[in-house]
Amino acid sequence: MKITDIFKNQERTFSFEFFPPNSEISAVDFGINVGQLMRLSPSFVTVTYGAGGSTQERTFALVDYLQNKVGFTTAAHYTCVNSDRDKIIRDLNHLKSINIKNLMLLRGDPPKGDQKFEAPKNGFNHASDLIEFVHQQYQFCNAGACYVEKHPEAATLEQDLNNVKKKVDAGAEFLITQLFFNNEYYFNYVEQARKMGITSRIIPGIIPITAYRQIERFTQMSGTNIPQEFIAQLEVNKNNPGKTYNIGIEYTINQCRELLAKGAPGIHFYTLNKSRATIEIFESL
Ligand code: FAD
Repeated sequence: MKITDIFKNQERTFSFEFFPPNSEISAVDFGINVGQLMRLSPSFVTVTYGAGGSTQERTFALVDYLQNKVGFTTAAHYTCVNSDRDKIIRDLNHLKSINIKNLMLLRGDPPKGDQKFEAPKNGFNHASDLIEFVHQQYQFCNAGACYVEKHPEAATLEQDLNNVKKKVDAGAEFLITQLFFNNEYYFNYVEQARKMGITSRIIPGIIPITAYRQIERFTQMSGTNIPQEFIAQLEVNKNNPGKTYNIGIEYTINQCRELLAKGAPGIHFYTLNKSRATIEIFESL
């Protein structure tokens, strides 16, 4: 089923992002976690595509498994990195042949060591170009990424939003945000997007901080703002993992409650392939 068909019946969707496990042990662990998450009946799930296409085979195998064996409506992430038009056509024909109806189309980050993204010969420079190409050639339901605190390469939020508008005009039917911890950025972003004529769903992507060490990782990774008060609370309890976990979960529950109360069209959980935190948050909403 296309995710846009799910939207017709669900005013709000609750969805999960997974990544392909990279060892036999983590695959077993993943299976256990997915088993637990199944009972939450997510609206849809998505599977990431490793940097530079590094997980391509495992991404495709996992979307096949989740879509056709587990029965989740599953979106495959796919990036422009190292892919020319011929490869894209081969890959998407394969995804089509295994009954995948939904794609999250991305540019991807520059390969390790490269400062700047360079499109491969006969490839694409921006997600909007990939989306346009796929939209013209195929019948997939296509989604795009957006960044409520702006993409790190963009000079301004306005410039970044203009580029997101290009994705929507090219055929992205909904957007999922990069993770964030301060809802003000999301509400402001949606307001600006609507003013620019972007009417599609902008689903907040949410991750719970459940350990103190994650703070540095998240801020370095995407320059994400984490409210000082929350950091201070975690810092005081940094040697008490149980307490930090509870503080993180409580913060995320309140964050999701406010998002939903103020009109967000659902929540996309970055599960990190774990079930406990997502189940606790989901059940309290
Ligand atoms: P783009 O939309 O192309 O934007 C990248 C930059 O270029 C932005 O600064 C934008 O403002 C600018 N830009 C865009 N279009 C134009 C234009 N026409 N002219 C000039 N400038 C332009 N990465 C992975 O490798 N695998 C994944 O599975 C994956 N999943 C993700 C899922 C979500 C929900 C999100 C938010 C991110 C994900 N990423 C993933 C990370 C993503 O690949 C990186 O953030 C990447 O740097 C940008 O990808 P994009 O699709 O947003 O690119």
